[in-house]
Amino acid sequence: MIFDILTIFPDLLESPLNEGIIRRAIKDGKIAVNIHNIRDFATDKHAMTDDRPFGGGEGMVMKPEPILAALNQVKQQQGVGLVVMLSPQGRPYNQAVAEELAGHDHLIMICGRYEGVDERILTRVVDDEISIGDYILTGGELAAMVLVDSITRLLPGVLGCAESATQDTFSRGLLKHPQYTRPRIFEGDEVPDVLLSGDHAAVDEWRFLAAVRQTLKKRPELIGKVDFSGQELITLEKHGLAAEINTLQKLARQ
Ligand code: SAM
Repeated sequence: MIFDILTIFPDLLESPLNEGIIRRAIKDGKIAVNIHNIRDFATDKHAMTDDRPFGGGEGMVMKPEPILAALNQVKQQQGVGLVVMLSPQGRPYNQAVAEELAGHDHLIMICGRYEGVDERILTRVVDDEISIGDYILTGGELAAMVLVDSITRLLPGVLGCAESATQDTFSRGLLKHPQYTRPRIFEGDEVPDVLLSGDHAAVDEWRFLAAVRQTLKKRPELIGKVDFSGQELITLEKHGLAAEINTLQKLARQ
């Protein structure tokens, strides 16, 4: 997977690429991340990448020409990719969107700054507009890194078995079950016995029920969309959770 990131603050993006799983993914050739300084594509003598908004008002707007020139060079060098604008007005980012974007070979991300970018960039060259949440960042760089990080860990061979993504929160619509490590007793607080039992079926059932309870407690609205298997429904019934889940699933369908 190739990520090309267009920004006026390239230094902001260096450090997250040099640590942990992302660093290893780059070293192993699973991903390439190319950072392009939009300022290098400004044509006037002051290398201006922004200007005042037509119609007046506060702040500055990023000019279209340097962004387009940067984008054209990326396309010439790396080929056509999906052009993503990071924007608070974009479609909300979540695990399903991360999985969808992980299916592409090449993402070209544009990071806005100031009041955002000239609208003609959005209407002419952007394929997808993504928001990482209903709040305003000072720029798109951290949002671009959120995409790089969350997409990279979904790519084949990036996570080892020990880091597998299949049991993650959101992977099937449930929050992940609680987890424990040594010590077995921490300030009088004991790890659930079943996790020490060596009985894999019992551990699986405990984890499933714990994930359901965790989701009911913290994010009940997620339960409505979970597709439970027949066996899971029997387990939920056995543990007195079926009625509550039924109600939430009916509500979600309305
Ligand atoms: N004036 C704009 C508005 O009200 O929609 C906000 C501009 S914001 C200060 C500057 C840039 O940060 C945006 O162009 C975008 O690239 C990025 N940004 C801000 N919040 C974001 C979010 N929630 N998700 C993705 N990108 C965001």
